[in-house]
Parts: sequence; structure tokens; C-alpha cells
Amino acid sequence: MPFPPDVVPERDIRFYLYLSQTTTGTAPVKRPSFSPSRLRLIIQTAIVIFFLYIGWEFINYYLWATGASQQFTPRPPAVEGFLPISALLGLKRLLLGGGFDPVHPAGLSIFLGAMLIALIARKGFCGYLCPVGWACARLGKIGKRLGISRTPGPLLARLLSLPKYLLLIMLVWPIATKMGLQDLEMFINSPFNKLADTHMMLFFLEPSTNALVGIGVIVLGSMIVPGFWCRGFCPYGALLGLFSLFSPLAVRRNKEKCTYCRRCLRACPVTIRVHEKTRVGSPECQGCLECVSACPEEGCLEVRAGYGKKGLRMPFWSIPALTLLLALLVYAGARANGVWESRVNPMELKMHHMRMMLPKKAMPPGMSAVKNSMRGKMEQPRMPEQARPHTQEQAQDQTQSRSPRQPSLQTPE
Ligand code: SF4
Ligand code: SF4
Ligand code: SF4
Repeated sequence: MPFPPDVVPERDIRFYLYLSQTTTGTAPVKRPSFSPSRLRLIIQTAIVIFFLYIGWEFINYYLWATGASQQFTPRPPAVEGFLPISALLGLKRLLLGGGFDPVHPAGLSIFLGAMLIALIARKGFCGYLCPVGWACARLGKIGKRLGISRTPGPLLARLLSLPKYLLLIMLVWPIATKMGLQDLEMFINSPFNKLADTHMMLFFLEPSTNALVGIGVIVLGSMIVPGFWCRGFCPYGALLGLFSLFSPLAVRRNKEKCTYCRRCLRACPVTIRVHEKTRVGSPECQGCLECVSACPEEGCLEVRAGYGKKGLRMPFWSIPALTLLLALLVYAGARANGVWESRVNPMELKMHHMRMMLPKKAMPPGMSAVKNSMRGKMEQPRMPEQARPHTQEQAQDQTQSRSPRQPSLQTPE
């Protein structure tokens, strides 16, 4: 039985685990013509169109790299935004003094930019720039339309948030504790890492049975529990959430004006219980301002800067504007400093693609290890200590000297 909207229910286990009534059926609220929600829709639509274009360019590049097309298409660097593990490895290499990742520099730039945004403007990267978050939010809305959407109670919501932190630890811990500069050099300059973007694309275009089951669970889960993936399982979002704890910007609720109608809860893509908070400082908050748009009480929910009791009132567009501004600054800075375009020659990438396409029987000795590495089973041969590279240049020299079949590396016209 649903709880009355204006009463905070007794805190028994039923309340904490309660999956509320479907999130449909709210009376319409008169919205201002330029609401936070509308601004977000405009930004996200532009981002999705941009990524569709990037995807199209990448497919054309892949066709050229695999010999299916003679028309050379440059690899769009922005695809590296989908390679967070590679970015983590690049970050550690940078911290150890190995320099900026030469293979996927855009991935590392996007990663650093997303962290910077989180420090200043909450998880604005999730709320406005991430196409996966956009897709999950759309699935949540479809679930509401179908009447299968459920809002988790506080305890269940907290439990659902845990897996992503476990995944984050599982990813970060081995990189932080087990990989030295030499291991990083070997991995970063390996064919597996150089084709990580292709590997990611093939994961979705040619999914295995396990991948299909996983994707199906995520799709269905996102329709039933809003924010199923972002709230529960995305380690990238978990890391951004930890950084966002320091963000001075946050949504604040004026208790005197609140009528406890819970429209904010129903609008929130990650089901934060805004109606129970004074300042929404949760690491789950994406700064999307859907709650502000949904609130019918003038001045009840506002964006404020500062950590004190009240904070400085800010315009609602401050979060999306700062998110876009920082993203553009990071992009411009990366381009100006030569850390956007990969330094790997396109002809070398083409060679790796062609090798990947070879049937196993026709492979030259040692290529099965490369093929296995493309499947995520890295079989890196151990090098004697004296032969290990200590700098990026040494690693590249060794890679080239170990590849007698490698064609001359000329940038295509
Ligand atoms: S939590 Fe992950 S998938 Fe969701 S919006 Fe953020 S980065 Fe994207
Ligand atoms: S903050 Fe606004 S939307 Fe949320 S319960 Fe209070 S009045 Fe309703
Ligand atoms: S609390 Fe508000 S700003 Fe934060 S994620 Fe939920 S709807 Fe978006």
C-alpha cells in the first residue's frame, strides 16, 4: 500500500526496503518555458548527435583499417572517452613521471576533465555529457510509461549503490599496487591497448551470449529501477561521485516552502530522496536539476554554492554552464598541448587490425598471443630485466625492432 505523499512514514523495515508504487500518475505542473530540464534536454540531444557522428566516423575508420574500404577516415579521438581503464593506466603512468599517454591521450584528457568537472560542478559529466547516462535515463522513462518503474526505499537504494564501489576497487587496486612503470609501458604500447577502442566497438556489434545477457539485465533493470546502471554498477560514476563530494555547488531545499509532495524524488534519475534533505551532497547526484524542474513550489529547490548553512544562491544554469565551459577548456588545452590526437601512426593501427582479422591458421608464430590479447586474455611474454623498456621511446623502439613484418609507417594521404 503506498504511503501518503505528505507524510514521512514510520521507519520500519517495510519503509527501508519498500519499492513504492509506480512512478507514473502525477498531476501535471505548469513549467516555465526555459526550465533546467529543457536546458538539459537541449545539451544532451546535441551530445547524442555528436556521438552518433563520432560513431559513424569510427565505423568508417574501422572499415579502412580492416581493408574493407580504400577511403581513409581518421580515427576520431573522442571515442577514447569510452576507455576509462586505459585512462586510469595512463594516469598512473603520468603520476610516475612517464609522461602523457601517447596511445590514448584524448581518453586521459577526458578522464581528467570529468574529474575536474566533478570537483567543481558535481557529476555534471554524468548529468549532461555522458551518452550512456542519457540512454539509461531514457530507459527509466520508458519503464515509467510502461508502469513497471519502481522507486527503491532508502536502504535498498543504498544497497544498490554498493556494487559500483566494489567494481571501482577491483579496477583501481591492481593498477595502483601491482603495476610499475615498466608494466604500464608494456601494456600501453601493446596491440591490445592500441586497438582497445575497436575491441570496445566489437563488444557491442558482435556481442557474445554472456554480453547479451548482461546488456539485457542492464536494459531491463534500468526500466524497473531508475538509475540501475549509473547508481549501481558504473565505476566511472563511482569515482566521479567521490570527487563531487568536494563540489561547492549543490541543490538545496527550503524546508519552510516544501510541501513534501515528492515530485523531486519521482523526477530524480537516480532516485535521491531530495524531500528528506537540506543540501543534496550525495555522491549520486548528477547535478541534472530534474528535481528543481519538477518542484512546484517557487524557491523551494535552488542551486547554491558553499558548504555552510545557506550558501550563495546561484542561477540554475550554473551547473550545466560550468560543465560545458570546463569540458571546452579541457578540450582546447589538450589540443594546444598536443595531448588529444594519438601519436600512434594510422598505418601501424591498420597493420594491427589486419593481423586481428587473420584466421588463426594463417597467423605467423606468436600472433595467437596477439589474438588472445584482443580477447582480453593478455599473454604478454616476460622480457628479461635488461631488455625491458624504461621510457616510452625505448618501448616504441623495441616494439618496432620486434616486428620485422611491419610495413613502412607512412601517414596516408
Ligand atoms: S554513472 Fe557512468 S554511465 Fe552513468 S552517466 Fe555517469 S559515467 Fe555515464
Ligand atoms: S522539494 Fe519541492 S518537489 Fe520535493 S517534496 Fe518539497 S515541494 Fe515537493
Ligand atoms: S537530486 Fe536533483 S540534481 Fe541531483 S541527480 Fe537527483 S534530480 Fe538530479
